[in-house]
Amino acid sequence: MERITIFDTTLRDGEQSPGCSMNVPEKLRMAHHLDRLGVDVIEAGFPIASEGDFAAVQAIAAVVRRPIIAGLARACSKDIERAWQALQGAARPRIHVFLATSDIHLKYKLRISRQQCLEQAVEAIRLAKSLCDDVEFSPEDATRTDPEFLCQVVEAVVAAGATTVNIPDTVGYTTPVEFSELICTLRENVRGIENVTISAHCHDDLGLAVANSLAAIAAGARQVECTINGIGERAGNASLEEIVMALRVRPDRLAYETEVVSEELFPASQMLSEITGVAVQPNKAIIGCNAFAHEAGIHQDGMLKNPLTYEIMTPQSVGVPDSKLVLGKHSGRHALGLRCEQLGHQFDRHQLDELYRHFVVLADQIKHVEDVHLLELISAIQKDRTDADDHRAQVKSIPLDVPAFAAARPDSGHGHSKLLRSMSVSSGAGLASFPLNPIAEHHGDQEDYLWGV
Ligand SMILES: [Zn+2]
Repeated sequence: MERITIFDTTLRDGEQSPGCSMNVPEKLRMAHHLDRLGVDVIEAGFPIASEGDFAAVQAIAAVVRRPIIAGLARACSKDIERAWQALQGAARPRIHVFLATSDIHLKYKLRISRQQCLEQAVEAIRLAKSLCDDVEFSPEDATRTDPEFLCQVVEAVVAAGATTVNIPDTVGYTTPVEFSELICTLRENVRGIENVTISAHCHDDLGLAVANSLAAIAAGARQVECTINGIGERAGNASLEEIVMALRVRPDRLAYETEVVSEELFPASQMLSEITGVAVQPNKAIIGCNAFAHEAGIHQDGMLKNPLTYEIMTPQSVGVPDSKLVLGKHSGRHALGLRCEQLGHQFDRHQLDELYRHFVVLADQIKHVEDVHLLELISAIQKDRTDADDHRAQVKSIPLDVPAFAAARPDSGHGHSKLLRSMSVSSGAGLASFPLNPIAEHHGDQEDYLWGV
């Protein structure tokens, strides 16, 4: 399988997103985690931008020794020299130079001609190359640049010594097929392109950043630029965890590998949220709190019988401790019965039916049924029965000493005892959402509550 270089720009582009700025100690903490995660390149900052950015790049370069440490610079000598100064202590430094190439940026932002742009890019790369062997060039707004002019600029910077050419979709405008064609155009028309690494840098304004990055890989890009949690300018950058897991889960279609330690993805996401105070949306792929949560009864039933029925990867493979079954109005008897067992109460089918009827009425009213509600419901039903017939109490309480209980009941009528390994409730708020450990076998009744597809 071909190897893809993961260029993490959480600390540079990611930090540019509103509310995500980090101080030097925070960036350093994050950089150590990115190192553990196994990314190949850490873009540590934009040294000319501020004293803090300079200090962060310098500090990271001094102590994070395995990955390449990149510093960003505009295509001018003072930026490049400042970046190089910050990278002095790096074991593997990279200077990343960028210059816009689209007519709209040249005309309104830079107020220079195409010819001036070409000359400035070459001059900047020559200077960077005189300082550092590893030089990356980004033609900003490449996807809105005239492809012919883009080829001209890329050919010139490759000749001037760039070792990586990054193609940014700065404004998140391209589509997978168009981006793939652009990468192919560069590969077909630029002299010397085969000697450099082509990179993709996609923004998510149309929600296509990951799809565009994967299209670029399929077209020949061998580096992708991305961020943890997909943070970045505006709608953000391509999400690192999504790219990595798409490659890992679908090698049949995407035969590429990365050095990322996928079990560190969730911890990295958590650390970034903790540092920035910016939460991840619950339904975010891979690392959102609902990414491995199941509420629909038919899904829960399938999960309890075999997690592969509804999960294409295990939560453990991305560092999430466990799947969660959430009890709501879409849940079925199977998950309800399991949670009751975990809370120390076991019911036969008839009793469970009765409890379930009450549970559905309650869930309709309060959306999420918490453990405390469930226990109240159980005790109300138990009390009714005790009142009705003292000698025929039909609900038997079981001790919470799980291993002893499980060992004492080898027959385990309803087959839940193996699941009692996961007794801890993952939600600190007391929600009746509980972890599900993968199970080898389960002989439950057929779930009859049909929700979801
Ligand atoms: Zn960007």
